[in-house]
Amino acid sequence: MWTGDNIKDHLQNLKELAGRLDDLFLDDQQKEAHDFLTQVLEWLHLDLGQEVVTSNKEEEEEMLRNNRGRPMLRSFISELFYGCQHNSIVCGRNGQVICHSEESFSNLTLYVNTKKQYSLNELLKQYYRQQDIVWECDYCGEEHMCLQHSVITSPPRLLLLYINRVNEDTKSSHKTLVTYPECDLSLHPYTKDNHSPSYNLYAVCGHQGSMTSGHYTAFCKIKSSTSKGWYYFSDAQFSRANTQDVFFNPDAHMLFYEAK
Ligand SMILES: [Zn+2]
Repeated sequence: MWTGDNIKDHLQNLKELAGRLDDLFLDDQQKEAHDFLTQVLEWLHLDLGQEVVTSNKEEEEEMLRNNRGRPMLRSFISELFYGCQHNSIVCGRNGQVICHSEESFSNLTLYVNTKKQYSLNELLKQYYRQQDIVWECDYCGEEHMCLQHSVITSPPRLLLLYINRVNEDTKSSHKTLVTYPECDLSLHPYTKDNHSPSYNLYAVCGHQGSMTSGHYTAFCKIKSSTSKGWYYFSDAQFSRANTQDVFFNPDAHMLFYEAK
């Protein structure tokens, strides 16, 4: 679909198909790129996925439990984009695990607030921090403050990060700047066994404007030897990009990393 003269028609067809599958994408209003991408990945995974079969009864029950009663599927989408994390809630009084689950994810939503600047590692640290939560504790037989915690059990090969600016001023000059590395991003502090691939950035999706209107652009890294480097894409236009613009970018909306 990305080759030939009629890419625009192909994209229009994709948009129409998405509208037929979910009313959210039906009209011509601007939609949120992260919502769209998450949904398209899930549709492809459900459509192409093959059931994971196990002869171990306990394993099968665990898979069904973790997948909310549906059979587990494996597809090239899950192989590339899906990571897995282990979530647990622990009694704040005696440290007993009250409940736990495995959850797959195709991207992580990182929230920024009004702070002037964040590094990507600060946002990841904030995402995976232990949080207080009021919970009906099975051990104590009453509701009290417990601890919720998540660790990555299987990092994805392609890591998608969504910078959520939902409460932010939409003017570029007022947005929080998030700094992110080009090479060697690691998730190891947030993994169960302290192992993570080393990730390199290959694209950044940017957004100017409000949640309901505005304009999406992208920076992409081309690896072929003749035209190596970062390029800027805006609708049908593209040009070579300044590295400074790629990494000093208050409009950064989604970051795309790949494992080395
Ligand atoms: Zn308790």
